Amino acid sequence: MSVQAGESWIHDKYKFFGLSLSGIRTAIAMPELSLAFDVAQGYPFLLNLKHFFISHGHLDHAAGVPYIISQKAMNSQDAGNFYMPPSLVEPLDKIMKLWQEIEKHEYKYNFIPVTPDQEFHLNPQTFVKAFATTHRVESYGYTIFETYKKLRADLAGLKQNDIVQLRRQGQEVNEIHHIPAVSFTGDTQIEFLDGCDWVRKSKILFLEATYLDERKTIAQARQWGHTHLEEIIPRLKELECEKIVFIHASSRYSDKDALQILQTKIPREYHERIALFPGR
Ligand SMILES: [Zn+2]
Ligand SMILES: [Zn+2]
Repeated sequence: MSVQAGESWIHDKYKFFGLSLSGIRTAIAMPELSLAFDVAQGYPFLLNLKHFFISHGHLDHAAGVPYIISQKAMNSQDAGNFYMPPSLVEPLDKIMKLWQEIEKHEYKYNFIPVTPDQEFHLNPQTFVKAFATTHRVESYGYTIFETYKKLRADLAGLKQNDIVQLRRQGQEVNEIHHIPAVSFTGDTQIEFLDGCDWVRKSKILFLEATYLDERKTIAQARQWGHTHLEEIIPRLKELECEKIVFIHASSRYSDKDALQILQTKIPREYHERIALFPGR
């Protein structure tokens, strides 16, 4: 179990930049795909990205949208693509119109409403799929899927020559697989886990856990649309993820305290797969 210092977190070929702390800031960027999940207040490592997947409209997740748009204009970049809950499009558009009045400048931006299970293709190998979550306002999580070609299961065991022969006869010897690589929940109660099996199978799952100990009850966590660690622990056995990365811990815990609590409360058999995303 670990918390990697600074603003980056790495697993395998996947590299993330960001910070996440409840009520203060959440933004997680993947520069290699030119995307971010939420934008906090609009940090420097977000400004050159193309795609922004916004979980919901709370300021600790979405305040940076106008700033990123303005910085893109200043640097003559193309309009950014901001994917978001449908109910957020109109209010954010109004905010941008007001800011255009204040600045006497016209901004370019694409606000794209999402629906559950909708897929957004970033390139031929990668798409992002939205899933509904349960929070105090309309909210969504997102999963990055990677597309692979693999030899058809019914051809496994055939000799290479036979496969070449089939291909010469015009047969498609490969089949397409879509692998859920990275899921990000945003803020949510735990119910979303019942809905999407691909989230439970994601290689990396960024999972909100706002309250970690008895200073808040499960009922209090739910009242604010959040998840308590005590709700997650009994469900860890359902998660097939290589890494479960806790995000959005309450600011009452330092990263060190949060890690200590996770180490004490989570059964040892899961420790290898658990990480805490940096908050500060
Ligand atoms: Zn939040
Ligand atoms: Zn929230």
